[in-house]
Amino acid sequence: MPLWEENIRKVVPYTPGEQPKEANIIKLNTNENPYPPSPAVQAAVAGIPDADLRKYPDPAAAELVNALAARYGRKPSEVFVGVGSDDVLAMCFLTFFNNREKPVLFPDITYSFYDVWADLFRIPYETVPLDDAFRIRPEQYERENGGIVFPNPNAPTGRAMALADAERIIASSPGSVVIVDEAYVDFGAESAAGLIPKYDNLLVVQTFSKSRSLAGERIGFAFGNESLIRYLNDCKYSFNSYTMNRTAIAAGTAALKDEKWFREKVGKVIATRGRAEKEFAALGFRFYPSVSNFLFVTHPAKPAAEIFKELRERHIYVRYFAKPRIDNYLRITIGTDEEMDALFAALREILA
Ligand code: PMP
Repeated sequence: MPLWEENIRKVVPYTPGEQPKEANIIKLNTNENPYPPSPAVQAAVAGIPDADLRKYPDPAAAELVNALAARYGRKPSEVFVGVGSDDVLAMCFLTFFNNREKPVLFPDITYSFYDVWADLFRIPYETVPLDDAFRIRPEQYERENGGIVFPNPNAPTGRAMALADAERIIASSPGSVVIVDEAYVDFGAESAAGLIPKYDNLLVVQTFSKSRSLAGERIGFAFGNESLIRYLNDCKYSFNSYTMNRTAIAAGTAALKDEKWFREKVGKVIATRGRAEKEFAALGFRFYPSVSNFLFVTHPAKPAAEIFKELRERHIYVRYFAKPRIDNYLRITIGTDEEMDALFAALREILA
């Protein structure tokens, strides 16, 4: 081993879902929205003067921050933006989770980036088991900790917790920052953002990747009290001033102004999810009702790993996690009605 290897930060990286290159696939593996974004987005991006690309973007991304503040009824000083919610969450881990003695807490079954960031930043953590019905138990977070993070709805389970339960977690740890990761909240869960005036330790993180169809632009944001947002910005400016590029700022701002598109497309995904639940049930799958843009399903007669493989042979991509407790489940993104019809035709063959 070369001597310099001793001084290297060694990490096991997060594995994102596959982004296959071939055409004619049905891609239900990374919870993207199946519909193109609001047409206002393309228009805004095309409208960026060529000459402006020569210059650095606004480091504060004020246009986007102001549009988010206006849309969600917050002050601009209560809004932080980043390169997808992954960037926002990573910055939150770096900024808020600095207790070297007390562990950060998150569910045992959850977004599999949390333990990767904790390892990267050398943050001690402990996982808190979901119950047998994949529910977060708020009382289990009432213990010493160096911070708490959980998604609501949770991923990959799709199960949401009531706002009162989320509040119980936030209220019981006033000495640490509690991050509610609301990547999927627009598909039917209750946001904790309204609790921000009441709790100075609460940070709510959301994304444009799912409900606004802009995974390709990488736009995420956080709401919290001014002091938390100031600390986040201090860390961000100590790392990379220009996280948001001009195109993303313009795209995000335009998307926020098209409420009609937003309501229509979120409504379509929810309607297709309702249809899909009936089809999965008819095929014998078991699952909990989802309030996200995916379903987490298991079949009593055929192992998930086999269904995954056979779907893939038919060019249908879903997500399989070879992890304890969930290795007989598939996480399936809600696509268009046509994509779901093709999925169910394939599943009927595979299960026949
Ligand atoms: N949180 C959760 C729970 C997610 O599932 C995802 C999507 N992979 C993210 C955050 C990050 O999404 P993005 O960086 O696209 O905003």
